[in-house]
Amino acid sequence: MLEVRGISVTYGALTAVRNLSLSVAEGAIVSLIGSNGAGKTTTMKAIIGLKPVSCGEIYFDGERIDGASAPHRVGRGIALSPEGRRVFPQMSVLDNLLVGGYSQRDKAHQKKTLEQIYGYFPRLVERRSQMAGSLSGGEQQMVAIGRALMAKPRLLLLDEPSLGLAPIIVEEIARIIVDINRDIGMSIILVEQNAKLALNLCNEAFVLETGAVALSGKGKDLLASDYVRRAYLGI
Ligand code: ATP
Repeated sequence: MLEVRGISVTYGALTAVRNLSLSVAEGAIVSLIGSNGAGKTTTMKAIIGLKPVSCGEIYFDGERIDGASAPHRVGRGIALSPEGRRVFPQMSVLDNLLVGGYSQRDKAHQKKTLEQIYGYFPRLVERRSQMAGSLSGGEQQMVAIGRALMAKPRLLLLDEPSLGLAPIIVEEIARIIVDINRDIGMSIILVEQNAKLALNLCNEAFVLETGAVALSGKGKDLLASDYVRRAYLGI
């Protein structure tokens, strides 16, 4: 479904992502792990079109998209739930969700998608009129994921959904990610500093170090790798 071939991304003189290749199969969960500054967020930005690549190619469903605008990529079926949630604090939960569905012209369809999202996040139903800025961190994360889902993506990019959340909320969000993947068959790229969580949830994982893929493999194989255990799991 997604194929990233040898991309590099720079910020001025700094090369944040270097000759990175990865692929995501239809219906798969792929995790990107790595420490601060490894290039995970930059990779996500390159895939959704918020940051241009300086070389390499990105294909989605066989179409080359690395030169396309972000709205075009969203229209083709990719959506991003960004790091730090970035909800619109002065807007209600409902309006935040509706922003994510702006490209869906069919209102009945949009309503159906909204109901589906409320099904995954019942807590957002109770809070739909509340300003998003007054929600807890976990609830804001639910809004950010829900907003991305409103675009009806076939590939969902989740950047650090567990960041700063209590373990019990992390578990809840992890369960919902698995449900969404299983029920809808949505492909997911999960960026996480919580390596244990990311490796447990995924089919395949890529370990990024200083902008390049240092290691890749099945989540369960990486969980058993001495190197990963020492460097990322603190074992
Ligand atoms: P984190 O988990 O801390 O978000 P990350 O793996 O997502 O880390 P990136 O945010 O992709 O890493 O950053 C990769 C490198 O690019 C880092 O060295 C970072 O300082 C640099 N970088 C990121 N954004 C910018 C920017 N807007 N301008 C300049 N340098 C940047």
